[in-house]
Amino acid sequence: MRDSQLFGHVTAVAPGKVNLSLRAGPLRPDGYHDVATLYCAVSLYEEVTASPREDDAITVTVSERSVFTGVDLLDESTGERVTGEIPLGASNLAYRAAALLRDRLKGRRAGVLSGPWEGSAPAGWGVDLTLVKNVPVAGGMGGGSADAAAALVACSALWDAGLSKEQLAEIGSELGADVPFALMGGAAAGQGVGDELSPLLHRGELHLVIAPASVGLSTPGVYRTLDAMRERAGVQADTPELDPDLVRAVSRSDAESLSALMVNDLQAPAVSRLPELDELMDLGLSEGAMQGIVSGSGPTVFFLAHDAAHASQLATSLEERAEVWAIPVTAPAPGARLLAQK
Ligand code: ATP
Repeated sequence: MRDSQLFGHVTAVAPGKVNLSLRAGPLRPDGYHDVATLYCAVSLYEEVTASPREDDAITVTVSERSVFTGVDLLDESTGERVTGEIPLGASNLAYRAAALLRDRLKGRRAGVLSGPWEGSAPAGWGVDLTLVKNVPVAGGMGGGSADAAAALVACSALWDAGLSKEQLAEIGSELGADVPFALMGGAAAGQGVGDELSPLLHRGELHLVIAPASVGLSTPGVYRTLDAMRERAGVQADTPELDPDLVRAVSRSDAESLSALMVNDLQAPAVSRLPELDELMDLGLSEGAMQGIVSGSGPTVFFLAHDAAHASQLATSLEERAEVWAIPVTAPAPGARLLAQK
């Protein structure tokens, strides 16, 4: 008997991430940039519940329990806010993850491939996915990718696929580098276009404060601004390399050393779009943060704190002194996992 016949629905969680450092190389002829980055999963989790359907449809709903249900996006050319909505159809990353997994399982079932789940046959291949979004949307924290990772874990259990995390990561990599990272969690060096992941062995814990913005930025748009800024300044970017001291500091959770090594090449273009981010980072530093930078393509800013008490005190003073919401988190957080089957 399959799990999903025993259990009506399956819930999985997957973490959002910050980039403790991100260096971007020059624009490549294919439109991408080489990066050297340090991904770090944080204790803010997206939750995805997969419920079986009798038919073949995949549906996506954003739960009312979500902290973030959408975000305004900053229009690249006009600089104006446009209402951004989370797509609920075939472009939603959770939908795409479920569809990819289903295609792979159907392929196996048809005997195209062989594997542990050969012959398993869900009543319907459809699934209702309900997302609880706790990671800021379009915030440079990989929330959509965490949804995809959680959907892979939940659907894999629902369809009794018997797949390892590594196998799910290989499927998820088709949706972008952040998906395998959200499955694995922890900390990892990312090279290539961010897709060559090297997990870091780490000990200890870092304490961060996440400050989401009230508006989102498009990742390709931020890269375009970076290229334009470099061109105007006549700067030729070097091939990015990972700093071994940074890797050492993260694997030891050495906040002191890390604070001097955190850097993000996408920060200047993000700030050029949203100058208030600079004020927020200055405020955090004046309130005692060890360091504060933009995560990924932004606009989420995160601060490094000495310990849990310091993080909570920093979050309170940021909320009191600026009109922001500040969330203390721990890192590196574990990757995607099953939460419940009912
Ligand atoms: P990235 O850095 O991967 O570009 P991000 O972390 O800044 O992304 P996400 O919250 O992952 O931001 O979403 C970016 C965009 O992706 C959204 O504006 C939305 O249009 C689209 N999207 C697709 N699937 C999802 C999802 N499950 N949740 C949120 N947004 C999604």
